[in-house]
Amino acid sequence: MQNSATVVVTPKAEKSLLRRHPWIFSGAVRQAPAVAAGAMVAVRAADGRFLAWGAHSPESQIRVRVWSFEEHEAIDAGFFQRRLAEALAARRQMPLLSPCTAVRLVHGESDGLPGLIVDRYADFLVCQFLSAGAEHWKATIVAELERLLPCRGIYERSDADVRAKEGLPLASGVLCGMAPPDLLEIRAGEVALWADLVRGHKTGLYLDQRENQALVAAFSPGAEMLNCFCYTGGFGLWALRAGARQVIQADASADVLALARRNAQLNGLDDGRAEYVAANVFELLRTYRDSRRQFDLIVLDPPKFVASAAQMDKGCRGYKDINLLAFKLLRPGGVLLTFSCSGLVAPPLFQKIVADAAADAGRTVRVIGHLHQAADHPVSLNFPEAHYLKGLVCLAA
Ligand code: SAH
Repeated sequence: MQNSATVVVTPKAEKSLLRRHPWIFSGAVRQAPAVAAGAMVAVRAADGRFLAWGAHSPESQIRVRVWSFEEHEAIDAGFFQRRLAEALAARRQMPLLSPCTAVRLVHGESDGLPGLIVDRYADFLVCQFLSAGAEHWKATIVAELERLLPCRGIYERSDADVRAKEGLPLASGVLCGMAPPDLLEIRAGEVALWADLVRGHKTGLYLDQRENQALVAAFSPGAEMLNCFCYTGGFGLWALRAGARQVIQADASADVLALARRNAQLNGLDDGRAEYVAANVFELLRTYRDSRRQFDLIVLDPPKFVASAAQMDKGCRGYKDINLLAFKLLRPGGVLLTFSCSGLVAPPLFQKIVADAAADAGRTVRVIGHLHQAADHPVSLNFPEAHYLKGLVCLAA
């Protein structure tokens, strides 16, 4: 049907495609055409059988990302309209999202749109085009989003480092409509938050932690809480709201702490129970250890320590270090919520690191919950790589 260049793949890659995994790595390509980044290619087995339609990305280790496994499906505006509509329909079936005005509408590969992120913040959309294919179809995708989701503006935050792996420059700015205001108020269930869509991390907020933030409420009444790597304070706000006695919001950035304080004001929680500490968490935990400070509830939600295989050892030592220190600061019966957003650190490895940390801290610890990214960041069963955020609820004896 559509006239396209052809990529021929190895038998191993063929098996993976038949299981509908959407990536073809450079080593699996037997024969590649000389077509531009993002251009459409037909993926075929050595004997010429059709396997998939995909986007070519000549500079990336992920050489092709699949749009469709159906030979008769045209990749055109109608295709993007259908995939976007399916992603929106799926969000409507996620009951936890109904009281939230900041929601991930498209989560890349897991929504059948490799490299595309679309987040809604109240009446603005924020997009990331993180692959050559998503970049190629940008104008079409933006036009379809405008039709499906009337909004005040669509803003691009393609300023993530992964763009470099695709040979794409960083890009951000207004794609259509108005620029977002400096701060936009959104609701995440019972908590309101200011979101900075232009300068904030990721697309403004860590939407992937929304459900885990709400969970801390259960452990908060009367608690002294230490919220490490707090960003704009989400976990701490839920704790304050649920009756924590004291909350320390700790982050290296004074700017995000200023916003955490404004978030407490926004929720009527600026009543002196929160303290805002600008510090390197690695050092802060040592200071508290040396001064024998104790807490009932600690959250560790660090940035990605392992972004590539080369960072594995150092990153794992980082996780072990902060978890060990946190266990030392927990009162008997205290609870630690500990996270890793490094996709390369698989859940069993993360649990082993936390177990080693507890053993070295001399604590007996029970895991009473396994946590993951929020429902609007789904994991397609064909694409387990989408599961990047994992967390443990640890009860220390
Ligand atoms: N827990 C947050 C998200 C955390 S993102 C939420 O739920 O919204 C990671 C945060 O860690 C960022 O705000 C970043 O400023 C901070 N950070 C990174 N390295 C740090 C360090 N060594 N010490 C303290 N904060 C750090």
